[in-house]
Amino acid sequence: MSEREDTDGESASPSGSEQTTGRTPFGSAMAQGAHMTTPGPGVMPGLEPSGGGPVAALGGEQLQLQLDSFLARHEDALKLFRRDLHMHPELGYAEHRTTQRIVERLTEAGLRPQVLPRGTGLFCDIGPEDGPTVALRADIDALPLQDEKDVPYKSTVPGVAHACGHDVHTTMVLGAGLFLAQQAAAGLLPGRVRLLFQPAEETPGGALDVMAAGGICGVDRAFALHCDPRIEVGQLGLRTGPITAACDKVYVKVTGPGGHTARPHLTADLVYALAKIVTELPAALSRRVDPRSSLSLVWGRVSAGSVANAIPDDGIAEGTVRCLDDEAWHRAPEMMKSLLQSVAAAYDVEASLEYVRGVPPTVNEATSVQMFRDASAQVLGEEAAVPTPQSLGGEDFGWYLESIPGALARLGVREPGSSGEYDLHRGDFDVDESCIAAGVRVLAATALTALWDGNRPGDQEPMEGAAIA
Ligand SMILES: [Zn+2]
Ligand SMILES: [Zn+2]
Repeated sequence: MSEREDTDGESASPSGSEQTTGRTPFGSAMAQGAHMTTPGPGVMPGLEPSGGGPVAALGGEQLQLQLDSFLARHEDALKLFRRDLHMHPELGYAEHRTTQRIVERLTEAGLRPQVLPRGTGLFCDIGPEDGPTVALRADIDALPLQDEKDVPYKSTVPGVAHACGHDVHTTMVLGAGLFLAQQAAAGLLPGRVRLLFQPAEETPGGALDVMAAGGICGVDRAFALHCDPRIEVGQLGLRTGPITAACDKVYVKVTGPGGHTARPHLTADLVYALAKIVTELPAALSRRVDPRSSLSLVWGRVSAGSVANAIPDDGIAEGTVRCLDDEAWHRAPEMMKSLLQSVAAAYDVEASLEYVRGVPPTVNEATSVQMFRDASAQVLGEEAAVPTPQSLGGEDFGWYLESIPGALARLGVREPGSSGEYDLHRGDFDVDESCIAAGVRVLAATALTALWDGNRPGDQEPMEGAAIA
């Protein structure tokens, strides 16, 4: 199918710019330059310095020229690709059409994507196996929200929208992959780049499917971008240490014999005990963990009883646990369980805890953040990197960083000078589509920076918890 058919013709033309008729030839990416001689590491043939001599290292100017050339040919097609996904959003583990579209584009470029066993999501290797391996991760799922925008590429699926920018993430990793495939075809990649298109980030859990399928086996470092409508296009939000939080759910159930409110001493005063649990647990937890871990238990639902003069025989409390520290997150269930038992025992009630794991905190490794910073200086400018705050939101990229070093950065998607108050997970969320080219540049340059670093990263470097990029 052509781009035009995919995206409903004229109405999907990005930015009102003129469009080529038919498909922009992603598929030709590999062919271009593949037959030429190698001018030097990381430099596409045909873009050698005018002097014609070999280039000793990946020069920022040379990389810029290559990226300019690639984006001049592919940027419009990438915007159309994003709009096609935006019009056809799919929820976690139902991303069949999205998966198919990505597979088509990669296959056209001569690559061999592997779909995950559950049928949605995929990964795809580029470049030689001998050498380091760097992963670029995108998430591909949408949210159960109504698209409230009035744009030609509005969601065609009622109640489902790409309101977290995962259509943009997917497009950027695809674009970076196609660019890097050109480099690989010319023999210019000193290692392998693995594109990870994971399903079900919002569900969450898609990262675990990728890992179960061997998606990060042999990967030395992983990088991801997430759209951030608070910062302008052309900027990259960086942070060393925790950038997103763990978010788990807890369900407490308390039971007792019940009885008359006139005789609490002859039964167990269940409502009183529940109230103690609700107040004591958050207080005790805050004294059992390092305050810098920002572990917080907040109740969202408490319920017990039905009439004024009867002590009920059961009650519940439900809440969330958020945490920025990996170690505290791992200890949290056991700590909560023992605290709950000790409070319940004091009032002679039975208490049980169901602790449902969400995602771990995403803890950015310092070296990987520096690679993002170096790459953004190279392709977006020296001023492009800006500090970004910690968030108590969850992000399942944290699962990968439990096993391998890496970093998540926030990509500016806000139109420069715009005054709108857009946020993620809102029905009116949208991006300035020039962010796609910026994201392709950053991802490609970061992957090359990591590959040319040469050494396989060893042990994780010490975290600077509060350091800001
Ligand atoms: Zn989200
Ligand atoms: Zn997201």
